[in-house]
Amino acid sequence: MSDTAAAAKVKARGVRVFYGEKQALFDVSLDIPDKAVTALIGPSGCGKSTFLRCINRMNDTIPGCRVEGEIVLDGADVNDRDVDPVLLRARVGMVFQKPNPFPKTIFENVAYGPRIHGIVSSKSELEGLVESSLRRAGLWDEVADRLHQPGTGLSGGQQQRLVIARAIAVSPEVILMDEPCSALDPIATARIEELIDELRTQYCIVIVTHSMAQAARVSQKTGFFHMGKLVEAGPTDEIFTNPRDTRTQDYITGRFG
Ligand code: ADP
Ligand code: MG
Repeated sequence: MSDTAAAAKVKARGVRVFYGEKQALFDVSLDIPDKAVTALIGPSGCGKSTFLRCINRMNDTIPGCRVEGEIVLDGADVNDRDVDPVLLRARVGMVFQKPNPFPKTIFENVAYGPRIHGIVSSKSELEGLVESSLRRAGLWDEVADRLHQPGTGLSGGQQQRLVIARAIAVSPEVILMDEPCSALDPIATARIEELIDELRTQYCIVIVTHSMAQAARVSQKTGFFHMGKLVEAGPTDEIFTNPRDTRTQDYITGRFG
């Protein structure tokens, strides 16, 4: 899983991001392996979320934000003119810090994507897909008897698993998670971490976390960002036990952050 691994699902090359005049990312190059979890760590404001949003072009939605460089997904640049960002975001799902179910039923939250993308051709097929997505997100047993109640009535941890089920329902290849546990209690956090570990076998997962313990627990590769630069990236155990850069050392030993 070195930085030159041929099996990279996503390759970032020389990515620079500007918010108006202000540059937030400086020439970030990173290979993101498939069927693995890559953690992005670093102090607040170092550009982790900005980089994550490059992968599914969510920065397009921010006025004044400009992205340069390449983000190559399976050999094609996501910023190419013929890439439809709506289809891209089905291939590259995203889970945010605060669970954001739609103000709809549990069933409708999961059924929405497959319906708008025309993934299913019958009601029974849709029901099957909703069930399998909820099962894969580890939520089915808790909601099977209340599918038609509002998603917003679930606990925070359940809502986050509902949002993950919603992402899974459209068969994504990559799942981006931006501090997905920071609004959750330790038990709900542990469940999401277990889920991430299960999903890893099928998806390319990128998680931003401010918790180094979480990065160490869930990821196989880690990238450390500092002041808009990717300082270093490599196998998680190496980053945590034998970092090459003193800035990484200082961060993981708690000297700043
Ligand atoms: P992190 O996720 O590591 O905390 P961000 O990617 O959110 O960092 O932010 C990186 C830098 O970009 C920060 O200086 C932040 O203030 C700036 N930034 C982020 N989002 C915006 C925005 N929408 N408009 C202007 N500046 C932004
Ligand atoms: Mg952030």
